[in-house]
Formats: sequence, structure tokens, C-alpha cells
Amino acid sequence: MDVAFWNREIETMDRRRLTELQVTRLRDTLDQALHTPFYRRRLEKAQIQSGQDLRGLEDLRTLPFTTKDDLRQSFPFGLLAVDFSEVVRLHSSSGTTGVPTVIYLTQDDLDRWTDLLARSIVATGCTSKDVFQNMMTYGLFTGGLGLHYGGERVGMTVIPIGGGNTQRQIRVMKDFKTTVVHITPSYLLHIHSRLAEFDTRPEDLSLRRAFLGAEPHSENTRRKLEDLYGIDAYNSYGLSEMNGPGVAFECVYKQDMHIWEDAYVVEIIDPATGEVLDDGQKGELVLTILTRRAMPLLRYRTRDLAFLHAEPCPCGRTHRRLSRILGRTDDMLIINGVNVFPSQIEEVVMAVPEVGTNYQIQVDKVGALDRLTVKVEIYPKMFTGEAALLDRLKARIAEKLRASITINPRVELHEPGVLPAFEGKAKRVVDNRQEM
Ligand code: ADP
Ligand code: ZN
Repeated sequence: MDVAFWNREIETMDRRRLTELQVTRLRDTLDQALHTPFYRRRLEKAQIQSGQDLRGLEDLRTLPFTTKDDLRQSFPFGLLAVDFSEVVRLHSSSGTTGVPTVIYLTQDDLDRWTDLLARSIVATGCTSKDVFQNMMTYGLFTGGLGLHYGGERVGMTVIPIGGGNTQRQIRVMKDFKTTVVHITPSYLLHIHSRLAEFDTRPEDLSLRRAFLGAEPHSENTRRKLEDLYGIDAYNSYGLSEMNGPGVAFECVYKQDMHIWEDAYVVEIIDPATGEVLDDGQKGELVLTILTRRAMPLLRYRTRDLAFLHAEPCPCGRTHRRLSRILGRTDDMLIINGVNVFPSQIEEVVMAVPEVGTNYQIQVDKVGALDRLTVKVEIYPKMFTGEAALLDRLKARIAEKLRASITINPRVELHEPGVLPAFEGKAKRVVDNRQEM
């Protein structure tokens, strides 16, 4: 396998030097954080008057976590560490509850972020010859502009098309012979279900790769997309609080995502106790950004559940790898007392060959009990009018789900195009219990 690097020195740096670099950058970050009212209070309480008071990486563990709530309460300027005139870009998310958060970047911050993306793009084997159609939403959402700048830095031909308008997406892919797309897995699934409508077969496209980001997806979904389009699909992880995409990205070996440790200090904690866990143990990902002067964030609780592994990657990169996101601390469903993550359901349904490109999870209250319904679209060829065939398929899916999540769901089969489709982040779960 061909392995290319954007910054070989940093990407393959030995672990000891990488840790030293982290400590140096963490000290600078603490000095910078002391410029904000929010962290000045906190750090002084922890006896930190300057970055030099930090003896090593372990000292970070004595500092309190930063949460999304802290960000909301500090809105708009409580976490700004430079003069506002130095800020060249801000990104903001309204979140699900509508309380905004904001992230600031200086020109140097932006450069460093762009560099992480260039590094990530090159790690997947892309070069300046690629034609890159960025189907993520542009604007305050970080998915669009982040990869856009990274793509330009690598020298790819960037098509800033943004999300939505499937017909135009397909036409543009054909017109310019797009070789790589950045897209949510749910939208890439959806586009496939509509190719025929626009007289297009996957072979008519020049697509070779996809960067899949912004939402959880299983290995089965990756494989399905790779098979449907005949491409390589790479997992891309990021969140706006940590700049956006470019936090962790898969290399050509596609065995989980290298998390760029020169830019982030990575911890996995037990979400209930806050205790730091070892590599291999599942817990909540906590990140400290080391390369942003305008807005430092220390020990930010991402609410994403995952684990780390440290064994060497055949590509030679030394940065540890982050597993797929297994769920979010806030997306776990409790169904009749049993904990269920939507990702478990997705993993099962996407492995069933008859299942098409869309599904939905619904939870209702029936009397005192919760009822889980899993709705899946199936390929048209399954609708032969033979009811027994469909009943058998339903039972098979229900049984596979029961084996994975231990509760018995109702399964509904639908024709393609019936369930709501998504052009950005999908909302797969409809929990009717909360609306009562
Ligand atoms: P919001 O928090 O409002 O959704 P963001 O754009 O910052 O806005 O979304 C970041 C979140 O998206 C992450 O915390 C994570 O839950 C999810 N996410 C991003 N990339 C991935 C990925 N590759 N796999 C799973 N989840 C992802
Ligand atoms: Zn690798």
C-alpha cells in the first residue's frame, strides 16, 4: 500500500518527543487560557498562575472539565483569549436546545486547522490531482469550510457545492469527474437510492473515495457504501468545539482514526465518575486543544463514547487511533429499563442485504411500557407481492436485533423513498415519549 505524508516529521514522531511537544504546547495553552475570565478563575483555584506551573501531562488531570454548558454560559466573549480584532473567523452552533455556542480563530489558528485537514486528506491517499466535491453544509457549521480549505491546501480541485439538491450533486459529479466527496453517510446512502431516477449508474461516476463525517455510522454502513459505489470510504471525526473536522481521520489502512495528538491532548474518562481510563477501555472522549490561541479549551467533554488504541499502525504514523464513535452520552435510549444506543441498531440493519439505504427508529409509550419500532426501507426487488417472504425477512431482522440489543422490536418494512431522507446530519430517532 502506498503511504504518503503531509508532514512526515510530526506524523511519525516518536511517542516520547510527541509527549514533550504536547507539554510545551499545553503550557502555552494555559498561558493563553489565563487571558480569559472563565479560565483565570478556574486555574487560579487550581494554583496555576502560569503555564510553567504545569510539571507534566499528568497535571492536566487535576484541572476541572469544560462542558458545553460552560460554553453556553460564557457566550459570547467569556472564553475569548485574544483581542476581538485578531479574530478572522468564527463558527457557531445553535445546538439542539437553541442556546448558541461560538468558536473563534485567529489567522494562525486557521492555518493550523487547515494543516490538520491537509494532513488528513493526504493520509487517505488523495493528491493534488483529485477533484473534491464538498457536500457538507457551508456556513456556521464547520464541516463545509474546514475541509474546503484543507482541500485547497493539498491542491485538489475543490467544488464548494454544499449540501442538498441531489440532482445537481449527481450532475456535477459527472460534469467534473469528481473523484472524492465529503458527505454524511446518510446522505451518501440517500444519493445512491436516487441515481437511477437521473439515469445514472455508480459506474458512470469517477468516484474513488468518500470522507464520511458528522454522524455516527457502523463498519457495516461503511462496507455497504463501499460496495454500492465501488469506492474507499474513510471515517472523519471532529466537532466544532475542537475546530471541526480534522481531529481524527482514517489513513489508507482504514483501521480506526489517527487522532492528531500534536494538536489535541486526548483522554477517555468514565462519564459517571470522571476517572481517566486506559487505552482500550470505552468511555467519554475528552479533548484539550493545543493549537488555538483565540479560544483555548481545556479538558472539553465531547459526550462522544469511544476508545483509544496504541498499537502501531502499518502506515507508520505514531498518533494513537480512535475507535468509531459508539454513541453519545446523550443519545442513549432507555427502553423498558434496557440501555440501547441507536448505533447498535444501525449496525444490525445495515448488515442485512435486503435492507436499502434508509431506516428509522421510533419509540412510543404504550400503556406503561415502551415500544421500540425499527422501520427499514428495502430494495424494490423484495416487493414481489409474496407476503410470506416479507414476513420471514421481518422476523429475521427482529431476531438479529434482539440478539444485539436484548429487547424485541417491532420491525416495519417500507418501500424506498418512504422514510424521511437527510441531506446533512440525519435524525434517525423519533422518541414520542419525550413529547408527552
Ligand atoms: P453538534 O454538536 O451541534 O451536532 P458539531 O458539528 O460540532 O455540532 O457535531 C459534532 C458531533 O458530531 C460530534 O461530537 C459527534 O457526536 C458527531 N460526529 C462527528 N463526526 C463523527 C464521526 N465520524 N462519527 C460519529 N460521530 C461523529
Ligand atoms: Zn495509519
